[in-house]
Amino acid sequence: MRTVAAAATDIGHVREGNEDAYLVAEPLYVVADGMGGHLGGEVASRLAVETLERLSASGEGTLAERIREANRVIFERSVTDRTVAGMGTTLTAALVEQGRAHLAHVGDSRAYRLREDRLEQLTHDHTLVQRMVEEGELTTEQAEGHPHRNILTRVLGGEPSVDVDELDVDLRVGDRLLLCSDGLTGMIADDRIAQILREEPDPHRAARRLIDEANDAGGVDNITVLLIDVVDDDPEPSPSSPATRTIAGPPERAAEASPPPRRRGVDARRALVWAGVVLGVLVLASVGLRLYLDSQWYVGVSDGRVAVFRGIPAQVAGFELHHVVVETSIPATDAMDLALYRDLDEGITADDRAEAEAVVEQIREDLARAGGAVPQEPAP
Ligand code: CA
Repeated sequence: MRTVAAAATDIGHVREGNEDAYLVAEPLYVVADGMGGHLGGEVASRLAVETLERLSASGEGTLAERIREANRVIFERSVTDRTVAGMGTTLTAALVEQGRAHLAHVGDSRAYRLREDRLEQLTHDHTLVQRMVEEGELTTEQAEGHPHRNILTRVLGGEPSVDVDELDVDLRVGDRLLLCSDGLTGMIADDRIAQILREEPDPHRAARRLIDEANDAGGVDNITVLLIDVVDDDPEPSPSSPATRTIAGPPERAAEASPPPRRRGVDARRALVWAGVVLGVLVLASVGLRLYLDSQWYVGVSDGRVAVFRGIPAQVAGFELHHVVVETSIPATDAMDLALYRDLDEGITADDRAEAEAVVEQIREDLARAGGAVPQEPAP
């Protein structure tokens, strides 16, 4: 068997830039959906696909290791470059080899498999509402209309390290894999996606139709669709097809962020460049880190109570990279007894203060529903 891939991305009707990126570099396929301001989102998703492409070309590491390296690259850039402070990206990757797809992902860009007319979602979104669905606290229908459905519990580049979910699925001739950003799945229902995938055998036309439908439904977000069809081998030997490579976005920017090819002769120059980078980091650290930290919010634990923090849940060389902004009287152990918040002590990240406070309210409601006595805050 062999694969035929097609990909398309579209800015949609509302956004001013396209912060999605994708990579088609057989046998590796990637979709990334950046966030953190227009520039930050574009830089984060592009850094993600470029890092994966570079490491895959050199054969370094497993897929998950490459993704964790991409996380490190994005995080370091976001704390040293104030123009992209706080950026992050989702990432969903498929490595398709020998009748299998190895999938790895972080965030809410999804992978599906269409087999014999049935569309199956393979990935689980790393969102707060998905956790609540898995805990039986929300139905799938409630989750779709939930005001906080966009709160991600994991992104690439948001913290110094990241957990990557992995799974393997088998592939047969006739199967079709779909990787996509939430600009598709937030706009059209899975049933409709399945119908289009069944009706349109040509992957290029199918990708285009999905994007057109998402735009017809409002196109409120960037839309990226990547299809991989598993087909019979050609009966006649054909020249091996060249690996295609596509990265969304303006090519000159892509070139600007590409690392130079690794060669021994440039070691000395690289050392100089690194010295410059280190110096730059030191100079920027005092300003950039503070600006970056001020833009970060999360819900965590302070003195055994649930609290809203500004900064990131980490410390460096003994310095805490966060401070408490809102204290509550909710006992942290009560919240962590609910499976949904069992990682509360590691911090639940939020886009801004309002979102962090919404998470606290959600904890309060969930505890009330679980039957615990939840202390109300005294009026300020
Ligand atoms: Ca998106």
